[in-house]
Amino acid sequence: MANSKLQPPRGTRDLLAEEFRRHHRIIKTARRVTALYGFEEWATPVFEDTRVFSRGLGETSDVVSKEMYSFDDRGGESLTLRPEGTAGVCRALVSNGLAQALPRKVFYAGPMFRYERPQAGRYRQFHQIGAEVLGAAEPLADAEAISCGHHILRELGLDAGVVLEVNTLGDAESRAGYRAALIAHFAAHRDALSEDSQRRLERNPLRIIDSKEAQDRALVADAPTIAPFLTAAAQAHWDALRRHLDGFGLPWRENPRIVRGLDYYSHTAFEFITDRLGAQGTVLAGGRYDGLVEEMGGPPTPSVGWAAGVERLALLMEGAGLTPPAPRLVVVVPVSENEQPAALSLLQSLREAGVAAEMAYRGNLKRRMERANKQGARAALILGETEVAQGVAQLRDLDAGTQEEIAWAALPARLAGG
Ligand code: ATP
Ligand code: MG
Repeated sequence: MANSKLQPPRGTRDLLAEEFRRHHRIIKTARRVTALYGFEEWATPVFEDTRVFSRGLGETSDVVSKEMYSFDDRGGESLTLRPEGTAGVCRALVSNGLAQALPRKVFYAGPMFRYERPQAGRYRQFHQIGAEVLGAAEPLADAEAISCGHHILRELGLDAGVVLEVNTLGDAESRAGYRAALIAHFAAHRDALSEDSQRRLERNPLRIIDSKEAQDRALVADAPTIAPFLTAAAQAHWDALRRHLDGFGLPWRENPRIVRGLDYYSHTAFEFITDRLGAQGTVLAGGRYDGLVEEMGGPPTPSVGWAAGVERLALLMEGAGLTPPAPRLVVVVPVSENEQPAALSLLQSLREAGVAAEMAYRGNLKRRMERANKQGARAALILGETEVAQGVAQLRDLDAGTQEEIAWAALPARLAGG
């Protein structure tokens, strides 16, 4: 139908005005804080060769097994809209021949795509900020990445209702022993497991611990933990991590149920969680991934990183009344056509001086003042015949309702910083 209204695709949204300002604040803050920790920003393509994700994230992860936006392009190549940022960053490290110059700290921000059932805080196109420390096996790198994530939450004013939970997934050897114990535990209750988890049982029993199905939760509650299976090296990493978190002055608590949704994690897994978002409680999460760069064809490159969902952070900001206010303009008001040229020149000098200013395209004095009030302008600069002749303006403070005469030359300094 030619005249049916076009809507954004299911699970996507337009980011306008207030919502955009929240997103912008989050990304700007993350960019600034990660720079304080020595991260450089990268931007990788929004779509990649499908193998970047199928290899990197693991075939049994929810993301790869059921959430990917994959398509064949006109040349018959299978491409996928990126569901997360880490695999692309690791691919880029290898493609650009940077896998030798390590460690390297990378920050990114951008849209991600997952075919999920849309609900509050869960979309098909959403946005993430993320940070990766590439090529560092030391537990200090894990602690520093976590500290950086916490710093961002603090700068956003969101740290109060958020708790840091940490866990270890051990190394491959620790996980082999743990895996066997998990299979034994869950196999004894196979029929009580959800269909998904029955399938996970042989392929990736660790994944069951991450299940959100109520019937699985009960069995997960008394599943064995990894602690007795940790090798000496894995135990040492885990001990050092917690020491360094204390060193950075970060409050944390252990949660042996954190496994993270992707297959590439080892040793550290962590989440900053909140009870303010209902079922969508994870706001910033990540862990150590020691095999991912190799999956992309690079050398062994132990790494650690995290990602945070911008929409969820934005929801928290909104709930806490932390939405950044719209910038307030100064409005230039020529009393008649005759003052237009002087008004334009003044308008331009204000903008050059960094003062956000606007002038309506038309209207008489009354209309222009009404509009200035309606749009929430902070001040109006009124220019009549006498003012132009004398090189001054009437500066009206629209909050206080006061008015004073002021020389043009003094205006930029007077209005700066508003
Ligand atoms: P969940 O368990 O909520 O599905 P996840 O384990 O799939 O999360 P990650 O892959 O770790 O999430 O992504 C990190 C963050 O990205 C999440 O904590 C969340 O804030 C955000 N995120 C993930 N999927 C979505 C989505 N569909 N819509 C909005 N934000 C999302
Ligand atoms: Mg998910």
